[in-house]
Amino acid sequence: MAETSGDTLAAPLFNRLCLIGIGLIGSSLAHVARQKKLARTIVAVDADPGVRKRVAELGLADEITETAERGVEGADLVILCVPVGAIGEVARSIAPHLAEGAILSDVGSVKCSVVADVAADLPAHVHFIPAHPVAGTEYSGPDAGFAALFRHRWCILTPLPDADPKAVAKLEAFWVGTGANVEVMTPAHHDLVLAITSHVPHLIAYNIVGTAAHLEEVTQSEVMKFSAGGFRDFTRIASSDPTMWRDVFLNNKEAVLEMLGRFTEDLTALQRMIRYGDGDGLFDLFTRTRAIRRGIIAQGQETAAPDFGRPHENGDSK
Ligand code: NAP
Repeated sequence: MAETSGDTLAAPLFNRLCLIGIGLIGSSLAHVARQKKLARTIVAVDADPGVRKRVAELGLADEITETAERGVEGADLVILCVPVGAIGEVARSIAPHLAEGAILSDVGSVKCSVVADVAADLPAHVHFIPAHPVAGTEYSGPDAGFAALFRHRWCILTPLPDADPKAVAKLEAFWVGTGANVEVMTPAHHDLVLAITSHVPHLIAYNIVGTAAHLEEVTQSEVMKFSAGGFRDFTRIASSDPTMWRDVFLNNKEAVLEMLGRFTEDLTALQRMIRYGDGDGLFDLFTRTRAIRRGIIAQGQETAAPDFGRPHENGDSK
């Protein structure tokens, strides 16, 4: 595990960084790579002319190209910042154009499927090191990015067993340069951990907001009106990018289904506690879950401010 220094590095780690897909994550990487001088030249690739125009206006890159094949030429670090379902296709298209000794990485939220989709088609002279920065917001596109997105967040690297340790160390240094803390694990372990910490919570949010939407009469009046309750926090998560999350669930199917099975069992146990008036059982669980949130705050992964720091008149949180 490496901790961030937060300092700007003296000499750029990479000569030419190519970012493919300039959405939230790609644009945030462009911001921070520029700010921390992590690469001498930043190349942005995006197929959408509107996005390329915004990238130019925001000054996110030194070079902007439409095709990934051209963008990766001469790059010593290429990071795929596209939805998980598109990573394999993009990797196949750039494979013949990757420079000798280049590091190819990604930021996909699922790792086993990325390894399966990418590893086999790469030339032997390329170092493939999958990665996942556990940092994000519910916003998408080039305007959503900001340099501090990865600061004090985790970036998980899932190198294959035969990965070159020097290349892994160099990619780790890049992420530390973004302000992230780095952890290394296997792709399978990553997918299991993220299924319960990120993927299932998103599915629950999509489901609860979807259920409310089905209750049309309620949705149009009471749900909006009283959404200052817990529901509002679910709507934030449930507004996350549909393409990204569709791909996450289709590509982390087994781990998500395994965790959903456990979740359903625990939900049934809760139902029983309510039905049979087991107040002690409910109280014990809620006490344990409260301690978990306090632990997350203590580790600096969440704000201790009431109501997630939302402003309230007179400083009130309620
Ligand atoms: P985003 O803001 O929606 O940006 C996605 C980018 O990928 C866009 O530039 C889009 O190009 C491009 N793209 C989409 N389909 C493509 C295709 N078939 N071929 C080539 N390019 C394509 O998404 P994001 O939030 O940055 O997510 C990007 C990756 O980061 C995903 O793999 C996601 O799992 C991962 N991730 C996301 C978060 C998060 O919280 N958002 C956190 C960690 C990791 P156009 O502009 O042309 O549409």
